[in-house]
Amino acid sequence: MPDYLHMTASWPQDGRRVLIAGGGIAGPALAYWLHRYGFAVTVVEQGNTIRRGGYPVDLRGSAIEVATRMGILPRLEQEHIRSRRITFVDADGNQVVEISPDWITGSVLGRDIELTRGTLVSLLYACTRDAVEYRFSDSVAELVDGPLGVDIRFSGGTWERFDVVIGADGIHSGIRRLVFGPEGRFAHPVGFCCAAFLAPNTMRLSHEAVCYNVPGRLAALYAVGECPGSVYAILAFAHPYLLGREGRDRAVQQALTAHAFAGAGWKLPALLDVMRDCDDIYFDTVQQIRMDGWAQGRVALVGDAAYAPSFLTGQGSSLALVGAYVLASELARDSDYERAFGAYHRKLRSFVNLNQATLGQGVSGMIPATAEQLTQRNRTIAAMAAVGGEAGAERLAHSAIDLSTYVHVG
Ligand SMILES: Cc1cc2nc3c(=O)[nH]c(=O)nc-3n(C[C@H](O)[C@H](O)[C@H](O)COP(=O)(O)OP(=O)(O)OC[C@H]3O[C@@H](n4cnc5c(N)ncnc54)[C@H](O)[C@@H]3O)c2cc1C
Repeated sequence: MPDYLHMTASWPQDGRRVLIAGGGIAGPALAYWLHRYGFAVTVVEQGNTIRRGGYPVDLRGSAIEVATRMGILPRLEQEHIRSRRITFVDADGNQVVEISPDWITGSVLGRDIELTRGTLVSLLYACTRDAVEYRFSDSVAELVDGPLGVDIRFSGGTWERFDVVIGADGIHSGIRRLVFGPEGRFAHPVGFCCAAFLAPNTMRLSHEAVCYNVPGRLAALYAVGECPGSVYAILAFAHPYLLGREGRDRAVQQALTAHAFAGAGWKLPALLDVMRDCDDIYFDTVQQIRMDGWAQGRVALVGDAAYAPSFLTGQGSSLALVGAYVLASELARDSDYERAFGAYHRKLRSFVNLNQATLGQGVSGMIPATAEQLTQRNRTIAAMAAVGGEAGAERLAHSAIDLSTYVHVG
């Protein structure tokens, strides 16, 4: 029987109270392990429920090991999308090259898992909702770190004290801003913006992705499972700097995307029409978060808040899951939170660095900048397809952490 089915409310062994900001992937995963290790956990999520929406994400390498230890692997396997192929097409829709997805993502066939972000978040929430306290439609407004604990003023106005506070609130983390400083200090733009939205599945795609490139731009349609009615459309384009506040304006997002793809062939005219009428667009500057340290005083960060690798590496969810496991295990092993945070950093640092460094390899080479690079990229993919190639360096990075030391924790 999966472990999580045994998770019912229990009293914390040492009474340590932990506040986790963010109910995405890292937050509920951390809550799961901390509860299991005897902590009293509260998760505060700004949304009025967990955010189920989402594009497909991958769990690979060490993240699969963590999922196994949580007892959720069988459920994840049931949700596995099993994409059959990625087809690259030209402006007229003619196939340029077709390839198996694992050849360029570094996924291990038969072991790694691809599922929608919403499915993963829902599952992690289901594992924890009866055991930890979730507070929706709330967030941390003020934080005072002192010798006896961290005093938190919630946006609702109440104050409360916690022993430790963890920011698992994503790439634009509010906890990071409050404790470590403005986002600009840690955000490293990769040079692209990305818009993602649902579009009609006019090509009747199933378990596959179709990609069209023009230099500096990528349009992809991603059919999740049978997905009869709709596909995820992802439009990524070169954009050299981080957008400020103006980047949150829907009209600005739509205008930038439409401008970037103006005159492009394939399905772009129809896709841009869909985007213009769409009121649920995900849009962001593609960036990595790089920090020298992930903890200060009684506050630490986990997941995208601390070390977002950018979606072009496809490793954000895996880092979130592994990071949550390591952090919880170190807090369970050492009641001195500073030593535990130090051990978390030492254990995870090289794993994070290696995975962030996969940017530019494999699937990350999906947006060549020039016509020559695009031709060369297509040749490389064709050669890989011919020999059944694999993304070796990425595969090594996905498992580059030894989790055996945590088997007996808690
Ligand atoms: C288009 C796209 C494709 C991607 N593809 C992949 C992929 O193939 N593989 C992969 O592994 N990853 C992928 N990712 C990245 C992946 O989604 C993230 O890396 C992952 O979700 C990180 O988890 P997290 O819990 O750290 O942050 P998030 O999932 O972002 O969760 C943060 C949570 O915190 C909440 N929050 C934010 N601010 C506050 C606040 N102030 N107070 C309280 N709550 C707050 C948010 O509402 C959210 O619920 C992709 C991302 C995008 C955008």
